[in-house]
Amino acid sequence: MGSTQGMSCFAGDPNFCPECGNVLPLPGMQDIVCCPRCSFSIPVTEFAGREILSTVVFNPEQSTMALQKDEDSELKGPVIDRRCSRCNKEGMIYHTRQMRSADEGQTVFFTCLHCRYQEKEDS
Ligand SMILES: [Zn+2]
Ligand SMILES: [Zn+2]
Repeated sequence: MGSTQGMSCFAGDPNFCPECGNVLPLPGMQDIVCCPRCSFSIPVTEFAGREILSTVVFNPEQSTMALQKDEDSELKGPVIDRRCSRCNKEGMIYHTRQMRSADEGQTVFFTCLHCRYQEKEDS
């Protein structure tokens, strides 16, 4: 068994050392992955670009989702034929918000579908 001729067996599989077929360690903080058996080394970028991309998952979605959630709460409720006093179009969302003290009662909000203008009306 010539070890140099066996190279092709390992080619194409980034998880194995192309020199000796040893399993390569996962890339850590360093830019280079070194074979623990034969001191072969390969830059991480060539080692397995896909794996690195999938492990470094930072969630840009989470922050945008939080933002959308906030906006949605403004836009939940029945749509009424109220005319927006800013853009003068009909169609505003009716929603109420209970104030802290019972004496104040409910405050009614109208949010314009078109320009997001919010009007307040105490009942
Ligand atoms: Zn090796
Ligand atoms: Zn409007």
